[in-house]
Amino acid sequence: MKRKSLPKLLYADSKGNIFDHPRLDMAGMNGTEAVLPEGVELIPLPSDSRLFTIPDTPPVAWDAKLRKFVTVDTVREGRKEIKVQAVSAFMAPGYVRTLLPACDYTRKKVHLPLWSYTAVGWDEEQECFVVAASRVDANENWLPRNYDDRKLDPLVRQRVKEFPDNRLLVQLARCAVDYHCFAAKNLFFRRWEAPIPTSPSCNSRCLGCISLQPSDCCPSNQERIGFVPTPQEIVELMLPHLLEAPEPIVSYGQGCEGDPIMQADTIAEATRRLKSATSRGTVNFNSNGSFPDRIRMLCDAGMDSFRFSMNSVREEIYNSYYRPVNYSFSAVEESLKMAKDAGCFTMINYLVSPGVSDHPDEVTELLKFIERTGVDMIQMRNLSIDPDFYNKRMGIKGKGIGMYRLLETIKREFPRVQFGYFNRTREKFYPEGYERGWPISR
Ligand code: SF4
Ligand code: SF4
Repeated sequence: MKRKSLPKLLYADSKGNIFDHPRLDMAGMNGTEAVLPEGVELIPLPSDSRLFTIPDTPPVAWDAKLRKFVTVDTVREGRKEIKVQAVSAFMAPGYVRTLLPACDYTRKKVHLPLWSYTAVGWDEEQECFVVAASRVDANENWLPRNYDDRKLDPLVRQRVKEFPDNRLLVQLARCAVDYHCFAAKNLFFRRWEAPIPTSPSCNSRCLGCISLQPSDCCPSNQERIGFVPTPQEIVELMLPHLLEAPEPIVSYGQGCEGDPIMQADTIAEATRRLKSATSRGTVNFNSNGSFPDRIRMLCDAGMDSFRFSMNSVREEIYNSYYRPVNYSFSAVEESLKMAKDAGCFTMINYLVSPGVSDHPDEVTELLKFIERTGVDMIQMRNLSIDPDFYNKRMGIKGKGIGMYRLLETIKREFPRVQFGYFNRTREKFYPEGYERGWPISR
């Protein structure tokens, strides 16, 4: 959309009240550099998003009069100069951010919690908040409005009564009720994608792991599952889901356990039983993909799709974030090729951040990676971590080519690669216009 003027800077007072600045314009940040958002990357703040402050950290804005970026410590309010702090958006899922909030991160005093931080401003022409982002998935199933807890509680109680000895069910009830995990809620609503947590352990030590924080980073949000469910416990909950739910997917490793690859034997057995009981629905495996031989076993067991997580396809950047224990990034690539060769739908869970993911070296390597692996879909997931901490740990200085340009480049070079944010049912693996791609061993 062509706009006459830039959106205005948003700032917050010390109480967290949010205002738009009468004169200064919104800026964003790519890597460590302040930039002006391009018209093409500004969209109205998606509904179900949230705004919050970056405590005690002054925003950076564009001063059109001075023609430079300025740090805004105070704003005049009547006769007083009030101290201000930066504002960030936490977007509804399905959107990839293209810019980080612009602020003076050197002044930040706290380690920011594990959310994703997006540049946001106020559009005077449209009278709405705008964010630097792009929609990458049209699936609206995951919007908060679909998860009404008043309807959930009786369903949880009823299901726990049906399977009083199933430890996995007790865990999922906790995930749904205490952690407000939408995937876990889906199991009780008996619809869409339901999770199968199985693993108390992991062989990565991600800086931003949401289920365990061995690092110096930040407290994790959820407590990991503390046991490995039996194939029987898995099947008795997931088979009815596959048989009865609309758009049914059951997914191992859905988010905040350890990594399910550590429990591959149990998962292979459960999957074999599910697949021999029904051909309905989709069984998916989300993982770090660190053991190709176990992926082979899971392909043979009947897994439909695989999604492997990575923050980068460059080994040094991958290692700095995942801190793998006894495996290397080449094993992840091998797993992806293996799953693709076995005829499964393959995805990467690309944990993106402006400045790291659109770094020219990353773009070059990503294109080669797509060519080598034949990956079907890239889920563009906003990495939830303090952006300043992340940039520093990844050694980022300066800016990348722009997230929007990254998306365009991939599309231009590999039109068959799909972007997305969520897992898909088998019926939707290859929508019209997208082919299956090639087997790697062509
Ligand atoms: S994603 Fe996390 S909260 Fe949700 S079911 Fe899995 S382990 Fe539980
Ligand atoms: S791979 Fe997943 S479970 Fe393992 S450390 Fe990373 S985020 Fe945590």
